[in-house]
Amino acid sequence: MSFDYDLFVIGGGSGGVRAGRLAAEAGARVALAEEYRMGGTCVIRGCVPKKLMVFASGYASAMREAQAYGWDVRMGRFDWPSFRKRLHAELDRLEGIYRTNLGRAGAEIFEQRAVLTGPNSVQLADGRTFTARYILVATGGQPYVPEVPGKELVWTSNEVFLMEELPKRALIVGGGYIACEFSCIFNCFGVETTQYYRGAQILRGFDDESRGHVAELIKGRGIDLHVGTDIERLERRDGGIWVKATDGREATFDAVIYATGRKPNTEGLGLEKAGVELGRWKEIVVDEYSRTNVPSIYAVGDVTNRVNLTPVAIREGAAFVETVFKDNPTKVERDLVPSAVFTQPEYGSIGMTEEEARDERPIEVYCAAFRPMQNSFIDKDERVLFKLIVCTETRRILGCHIIAPNAGELIQMVAVAIRMGATKEDFDRTIAVHPTMSEEIVLMKTPTRTA
Ligand code: NDP
Repeated sequence: MSFDYDLFVIGGGSGGVRAGRLAAEAGARVALAEEYRMGGTCVIRGCVPKKLMVFASGYASAMREAQAYGWDVRMGRFDWPSFRKRLHAELDRLEGIYRTNLGRAGAEIFEQRAVLTGPNSVQLADGRTFTARYILVATGGQPYVPEVPGKELVWTSNEVFLMEELPKRALIVGGGYIACEFSCIFNCFGVETTQYYRGAQILRGFDDESRGHVAELIKGRGIDLHVGTDIERLERRDGGIWVKATDGREATFDAVIYATGRKPNTEGLGLEKAGVELGRWKEIVVDEYSRTNVPSIYAVGDVTNRVNLTPVAIREGAAFVETVFKDNPTKVERDLVPSAVFTQPEYGSIGMTEEEARDERPIEVYCAAFRPMQNSFIDKDERVLFKLIVCTETRRILGCHIIAPNAGELIQMVAVAIRMGATKEDFDRTIAVHPTMSEEIVLMKTPTRTA
């Protein structure tokens, strides 16, 4: 049977674009449909604009520190509209690069929605239909907001990047990556920031000691963090959003931002029609090669709800092309995925938490929390944290947790060593770079505790 394309990709985000480009470069006839903007969540309303906001917000404390170091600088006001203009120009530029690179590789781009109509067929919003030997679904996810009275008044991460002006008082709901990152960004921008999290401690799933450390830092920076607190209802009142919390607290904010997780974009995609199996969270169920139960249909990235991070989606897209178009079955290793929460300061981690590791085997924990030289000079009371979890038997480093300025950059470097199987003794043999704060990672000689 002949098909219009060898590959039809639905979704122009990190995973879809990488797969489409690599398949086209390998000689496949590729088409890709995207209904919103090329680049997907990461580029348009996720990692990239968030990180640029992190950079922008970081100058607030840099200026205060500069004053303490002797600089004659005065703290001004942050001009969101002017930053926003530049931010969106940058996103337009990046979107253009994505489109150009894909087109240059020879893929055809349809800037409209596509849905599946069968195991080898898709239909565009304008009614055209195409057949393809393989279909790759890479439609990502979208913010999830739980049912709560007044839900229509809240923003999600999607709206934050589009806001016209900064709120004076913001409430962030949630305790995960996005909630903690936005709390820090808003706080640094000078917004009165409150955060409600329903559980006992933010950043569930991360290392307990590190979670506590981040929570202390967040509070120390002036974020009004309430754990064990959720929203009962919201109403528009007196020019603001009035919020009643589950603990009885009442308060009014100019913006309420829900960062309560994301759900896979599978609705209305024709997946049922094509016979594709969905899981409990409406995610596409795939095997280790990203293949669905329908042999011609694959899925990568957040729509499969495995490890929902851009670099993982990109790897999955590349592995799909190796497997399907290069006769080289390739799986993505998901056991040691480093990541960073871009709080201020940042929290970078890789591997196991202390709790996970000690449930499995005997471990040694090395942990140092201290005021780095740059802070102690100006009496800034913010401590960094360096933590290693070591297997007592094999001596291998099972996990590393760093809370420090630029911890995202630091953990990337450590990740290579840990991926290579570094032992504690390898770290010990490594000579320190002095004076740095990260030298501590090779200087921790005595276990803080064993378990
Ligand atoms: P997370 O899953 O990280 O966090 C969701 C938060 O919302 C949790 O604190 C959760 O609480 C809470 N929550 C969930 N449901 C409800 C509810 N019904 N009522 C109240 N609270 C609720 O999701 P995010 O939205 O922060 O981020 C989505 C994903 O995007 C991340 O998991 C990550 O994979 C990715 N991401 C990565 C970033 C990075 O690498 N720096 C940055 C941003 C996003 P509980 O813990 O109790 O379940």
